Amino acid sequence: MRAPDPDGGGFSRPGAQAYAAEWARAVRRIGFVPLSAAETERLLLVHTVRLGQALLAPAFSADAAEDVGRALVEAHLTEPGVLDWSVQALGDRFLPWVVASRAEQPEARERVAALQGALAAGFARALRDRTFSQQERIARSAWQARDAVEQALRDSEARFRAVFTGAAIGIGIADMDGTILEVNQSFADMLGYSAEELREINVAALFHADDAAGMWELYQELIEGKHDSVRVEKRYYRKDGSTVWTDLAVSLIRYDDGRPRFTVAMIEDITERYELQQRLRFQALHDPLTGLPNRTLFFETLGRVFGTAGPEQRVGICFIDLDGFKAINDSLGHDLGDRLLKVIGRRLADSVSGQGHLVARMGGDEFVILVDSDGGLDDAVEVAELALAAVSAPVHVGDQQLAVSASIGIVECPAAETSVSELMKAADITLYWAKAEGRGRWAVYDPERSAADIARSALAAGLPAALDRGEFVVHYQPIVSLLDESMVAVEALVRWQHPELGLIGPDRFIGLAEETGLIVRLGAWVLKQACRDAESWRRAYPATRLVVSVNLAARQADDPGIVETVAEALQHTGLPAELLQLELTESAVMGTAGEPLRSLRRLAGLGVRLAIDDFGTGYSNLAYLRRLPIHCLKLAGPFVEGIRADGTDGDHRDERIVDALVRLAHALELWVTAEAVETEAQAERLRALRCDTGQGRWFGAPMPADRIRARLAGGGKAA
Ligand code: C2E
Ligand code: MG
Ligand code: MG
Repeated sequence: MRAPDPDGGGFSRPGAQAYAAEWARAVRRIGFVPLSAAETERLLLVHTVRLGQALLAPAFSADAAEDVGRALVEAHLTEPGVLDWSVQALGDRFLPWVVASRAEQPEARERVAALQGALAAGFARALRDRTFSQQERIARSAWQARDAVEQALRDSEARFRAVFTGAAIGIGIADMDGTILEVNQSFADMLGYSAEELREINVAALFHADDAAGMWELYQELIEGKHDSVRVEKRYYRKDGSTVWTDLAVSLIRYDDGRPRFTVAMIEDITERYELQQRLRFQALHDPLTGLPNRTLFFETLGRVFGTAGPEQRVGICFIDLDGFKAINDSLGHDLGDRLLKVIGRRLADSVSGQGHLVARMGGDEFVILVDSDGGLDDAVEVAELALAAVSAPVHVGDQQLAVSASIGIVECPAAETSVSELMKAADITLYWAKAEGRGRWAVYDPERSAADIARSALAAGLPAALDRGEFVVHYQPIVSLLDESMVAVEALVRWQHPELGLIGPDRFIGLAEETGLIVRLGAWVLKQACRDAESWRRAYPATRLVVSVNLAARQADDPGIVETVAEALQHTGLPAELLQLELTESAVMGTAGEPLRSLRRLAGLGVRLAIDDFGTGYSNLAYLRRLPIHCLKLAGPFVEGIRADGTDGDHRDERIVDALVRLAHALELWVTAEAVETEAQAERLRALRCDTGQGRWFGAPMPADRIRARLAGGGKAA
């Protein structure tokens, strides 16, 4: 064999270059090559020459081919296809090209086979070596990484330990059975146990009957995995029995698959904050003087009752107001007043204590009891009775002994039918009724009465405008001589021509007008109207000398301007004073000061007549009749009613009274008018009893002014 001669026959440089180029093309076709085409060709040319030299070397060795196989791998030409092509091409193309037409071909074929094997072996070894080293590198870095993680874990564990043991917050870990696995020192300290003692305790033992409702259920739901954490304010009993209030947060730690694993509880001692909050809350919800719940707490509680009321639930309150407390306060001073309120507050609370009722002070001398029972109105009344009894026992404050009473408004009804504000309004109205009915008593709310009250108030509110709009009219009722039934006078009786309600009688609005004071203006208007009508009748029928009798309410008679009002009415209309009679009831005559009104003499001085209306129903203090300038008594209707033709007035008592009154009046030189004469028989008896005049439906109902005029035209007899 000849020495390799790249430039020699069959192994020329261009030939080697051509082979290397084809090899490079094949390699690049087979897979990714991290070299440029020229670099690949250059590299493979070196290997082509080495393989050629090895093939032609006099002393054959396949080592070069093994090197070439290894070199391919080192150049990252590691695709299996590269090896296949390289090995196959050695037989198919390389051999024919290098040893073309040479006699040594059979020997060369053996050498090529050896080279093929060596190249494959070199390639495989290099590949294996590379894989090993790669694996080793991976393993090494994996080990390094694990070391780092473990170190980090150790660090974090150490940090966690430090936090766990040193935390001011108590931390405890329990398993799902509630066994405490671990607690830190703060946890143990807060509960007054050692950490070891706590490990013997089950979480369940730390719950207490006094815990807020639902707390245990919440914990159960947490360990069932329904929540990831819960947070509550909870009290614990320390080992020594004292209480510690905590802000407790419990978190659930799960396994990777989500199953609950541990609970971690963190507790913070908030006892001081809690107690301060409680103190502030108590102050906000209690009256500082009596220590009773205040109106805020009362309304909070009442709101809760309404909020949770079922359809059947009833609600009852007793609204209490001391009678005349203002006078006590004013006369004895606020200090004693306060002490009295304290005593009363305590008594009220004691009187119903233990029955679940809430006693609150609403302010001033007002208290309220929220009745907690299913007993309906009976229970509410019983509570009110107890409260009245508690208040009425004498109170000793300082060296004073005070007798106190209270009035109570009771409201008791289905919760669904009312609201907080309606309930309180009803209680207020009812309290007012109790006061109006004489104090020292209870009254029960009655919706119908309240509706009537409201209608009354609406009517009262409409009075002034009605007067301005001229909605009032005056009707006149004849007063006739019982001797000959001639009309000697008429009584002026006012009516309200209401635009919606029709003609309203005075019984429905005179009382309201008195309460509101409007009676002074209304009365003056009636007086003037009556005088005007009477004067027009006088002008038309001067001979009849018809008297007009006008009612004066107590409040009017008491008014300082009454004498001027009457004088002015007479002057304005021109009616002679002696044709005007003023009717006053006995109580009006006595006035508010309890003695006969001074203005009566001055009125009499004007020359007008004065009559006592409804005589016999009021004071009946006959003594004053003697001293007053009275002209006439009007016997009240009920006496006249008792006079019956059928004699059913068994012992004729009313008749005997009328008889006596007529005699008395005549003895005092007073006229007597019998009111409400309804039958001929009554008229007969009254005439027999020497009553002077009569008034009533028998002689004519109240009628408009023009009917009186018509009657005058007819000679004064009933038309
Ligand atoms: P009074 O002054 O006692 O008036 C008599 C009342 O008896 C009138 O009622 C009259 O309609 C009624 N009466 C008439 N005939 C009969 C009868 O046969 N039987 C019965 N049972 N009653 C009869 P009226 O008009 O409803 O007046 C009621 C009260 O209103 C009056 O009672 C009077 O106190 C008051 N009043 C009426 N008008 C005025 C007024 O202008 N000013 C004042 N202050 N009060 C008035
Ligand atoms: Mg009258
Ligand atoms: Mg009368």
